[in-house]
Amino acid sequence: MIMDLGWAQNMKMLTFLNSSVVPSKVVCVGRNYMKHIEEMGSAVPEQPVFFIKPNSAVSNSLLIDPEQNIEYEAELCFLIRAKQLVGVGFGLDLTKRGVQAELKAKGLPWERAKAFDGSAVFSEFVAFDGEFEALSLNLFINGKLVQKGSVTEMLNKPAALLKDAQQFLSFEDNDVLMTGTPSGVGAVSLGDQFIGQVWSAGDLILEATWQAASSKPI
Ligand code: ZN
Repeated sequence: MIMDLGWAQNMKMLTFLNSSVVPSKVVCVGRNYMKHIEEMGSAVPEQPVFFIKPNSAVSNSLLIDPEQNIEYEAELCFLIRAKQLVGVGFGLDLTKRGVQAELKAKGLPWERAKAFDGSAVFSEFVAFDGEFEALSLNLFINGKLVQKGSVTEMLNKPAALLKDAQQFLSFEDNDVLMTGTPSGVGAVSLGDQFIGQVWSAGDLILEATWQAASSKPI
């Protein structure tokens, strides 16, 4: 049998343990922190609200279309191998908020607002030691702390999300689980400096810096 794997050379990559890896997809969850549900005026879901970003959404840089209202959502992210959460990283779930509001109002799927190219921005991933409840994140924009959240505040914890998602989909090695955003979401502006941090108890385990730039050719 001849297989055409020409698509493989265009797959987006992440860094885990200093190696480049290819996630087939990113599985995301909405409405997982109470204060974010309140700031969006959303209802508390009866079960986790999952959506997916394809490999083509994955990016290591923060590029935005300046003509769109794009918001950041800082999220604790986990890299999966052998159906286990083995790595942790910092991610930005970029969202075209106006588009999402229109789609939501019509009861339509969110792909136009959530799954566009470059909408899943990731730090490198580091080994995860299994202490979920110790993990927290901070997002600073231009030196100001705008989002902070921890696993203890999540409505659905990472291991439960993994288990729930596996009821209806399979995770391939190097796929990513994003665990929702705490309150404090807002617009991304060109030139903004983003610093994302992941802490485990009192230890800073990773920090990533991005400067928001235009996705359009100059
Ligand atoms: Zn999100």
